[in-house]
Amino acid sequence: MPNKIGAILRGLKNMYPQAGCGLDFAGPWQLLAATILSAQCTDQRVNRITPVLFARYPDPPAAARADREEMMEIIKSAGFFQNKARAIIGAARMIERDYDGQVPNQLEELIKLPGVGRKTANVVLGNAFAIPGITVDTHVGRVSRRLGLSAWSDPEKVERDLMALVPEKDWTEFSHQMICHGREICKARQPECPRCGLNDCCQQGEAGGEMGNAPWKK
Ligand code: SF4
Repeated sequence: MPNKIGAILRGLKNMYPQAGCGLDFAGPWQLLAATILSAQCTDQRVNRITPVLFARYPDPPAAARADREEMMEIIKSAGFFQNKARAIIGAARMIERDYDGQVPNQLEELIKLPGVGRKTANVVLGNAFAIPGITVDTHVGRVSRRLGLSAWSDPEKVERDLMALVPEKDWTEFSHQMICHGREICKARQPECPRCGLNDCCQQGEAGGEMGNAPWKK
């Protein structure tokens, strides 16, 4: 496995040298709010919404006092806007009340905030605080299973498997690269194995790229 994970890390680096956070933000509060908005929504759409959102609610105290109807109007194109507005306002209130107005920089504290799970917490840690974190979204989970890095569908279990395999310093970059790979080549319905740079070290690639027999198609 050490050789395999080394080859995967090198392959991902070659394919996605520029991979990074696709959300526009300045500071932990903006990234937290943008990541909450990004659920079931593209980064591009979120980036069209957040300039208005952040101008109106530049920090947790401002968002804590937001009128929910007004915030919903600003973010409605992100989808699920009622829940997202509730989460952003609820998180802002808790940050103001329990964390002196500062977004906490520990996973255990971040996941106490409304609307914040391990995925969002790791995005904030890795990209706003430069604290390594592995983000397991739908792409990272799927690609990990196909590569044979994890057998689990539960994101937390996939995260634990990846944390044991990938050097800690690479966690954040690895997450971005895996997300790119899931979006661009190892797609959910039709992974493009013949042009995949990880073909040689992929469980499925080693099986000869028999996509019709791929376990996820059964
Ligand atoms: S070889 Fe195919 S299944 Fe394996 S990572 Fe590449 S695209 Fe995904």
